Amino acid sequence: MKDCIFCKIANKEIPSEFLYENDYLFVIKDINPKAPIPLLVITKEHAANLNEINDEKLLAEILKGIKAVCEKLNIKEYKTVINTGKSAGQEVFHFHAHILAQ
Ligand code: 5GP
Ligand code: ZN
Repeated sequence: MKDCIFCKIANKEIPSEFLYENDYLFVIKDINPKAPIPLLVITKEHAANLNEINDEKLLAEILKGIKAVCEKLNIKEYKTVINTGKSAGQEVFHFHAHILAQ
């Protein structure tokens, strides 16, 4: 989607280090850390937030991706946050899940 920062990162218009990637999502470090280890799990396809994702396969892949990146990076304990909507604190309207770890 035009003018979406995470779409631009997804299609490499804006360079960013992918810590993990598969067919459905990629993982980058949050530019504004909210924990010592602040990761963002971002869908490759644009969807504004969780309310816009109805594909059960993709919903499962998001949870599998969260587990896979934590396994890859040896993160054993973590918080997962998915802000959905402005009043819930969502700032970027392209689906992402935060992984927050110490
Ligand atoms: P939200 O509040 O929407 O759940 O979280 C959006 C997150 O994206 C924020 O924590 C913010 O720091 C992060 N963010 C916004 N723009 C960029 C960017 O260009 N690069 C990276 N790595 N993170 C970003
Ligand atoms: Zn987008």
